[in-house]
Amino acid sequence: MFSKCPVSFKILFKNKKKKTNKLLQIILNSGYKDVLMQSVVNPQNISFGNLHIEPKKFYVIAGPCSIESPEQFRETAAFVKEHGASILRGGIYKMRTKPNSFQGVGAEALQWIAEIKKEMAMPLISEVTDPRQIPALNDYLDGYQVGSRNMYNYELLKDLGTYNKPVLLKRGFSALLDEWLNAAQYVLNGGNTSVLLCERGIRTFETKMRNTLDLASVAYLKQHCNLPVIVDPSHGTGDRNLVAPMACAAVAAGADGIMVEVHPDPAEALSDGFQALNFENFKNLMSQLKPFVEAAGKTLVSYV
Ligand code: PEP
Ligand code: MN
Repeated sequence: MFSKCPVSFKILFKNKKKKTNKLLQIILNSGYKDVLMQSVVNPQNISFGNLHIEPKKFYVIAGPCSIESPEQFRETAAFVKEHGASILRGGIYKMRTKPNSFQGVGAEALQWIAEIKKEMAMPLISEVTDPRQIPALNDYLDGYQVGSRNMYNYELLKDLGTYNKPVLLKRGFSALLDEWLNAAQYVLNGGNTSVLLCERGIRTFETKMRNTLDLASVAYLKQHCNLPVIVDPSHGTGDRNLVAPMACAAVAAGADGIMVEVHPDPAEALSDGFQALNFENFKNLMSQLKPFVEAAGKTLVSYV
């Protein structure tokens, strides 16, 4: 049980009899103790449809920021599948900073999205922005994404804890690791142990990039908890030219996968076009990534 525990925890347990009980109790009562320690979280138990998440594998989650039309989604899904993605992404409900920006195709699109997903025979994850969407989305998705802006939406997290679909929990853009792990704990406490953490960058004083991609958090999480860690270099940098190098760095930091945004024509994208990879960019990313994945002793899971 303690193989993945930080050394300090092990020492505390050893010294238990030496009157460190009080300090131990404080640590055990801290919110995220289960995320850090619990043996029940085993990546092998996490499945997106028929796709089982395993420790020595590497997963590329790819697709458009927003699903815009049947043509755009089908074309993108087919391309990323052919070039090595293992899970499709695509926003149906969008959390946009500006209220007049495109808000997503919404529930009316679920029927054709389901048809395309079936054609591709690939799992699909999409962001749920409100607990009231879950009943409608549940038949169509293989996993739920909780966006950065919703990491603190504890009612949403509690609800997702009662379903048995994987939850990809993005880090709040100003969230401490402790807060992020406690957010994960909200889902786990509901009985849903299929939680993946997604590092998507945080706000710092740096303004050249959309966010600062905190890859040290990935190395930290891999050493201190059993949850799979995914890196999103698209939102993490906000710059398509930085996506491939940061994706490779994510592998080196120990990530179990990446999530990237891809669009057939980024200049025409209804959201996040500036950071979207075009098809050529995605193909290049996949060939750049492969030696890094191999060097990490992992196998890229793909349908090709
Ligand atoms: C997204 O994945 O499209 C998204 C909105 O990401 P984030 O919540 O990290 O901003
Ligand atoms: Mn986006």
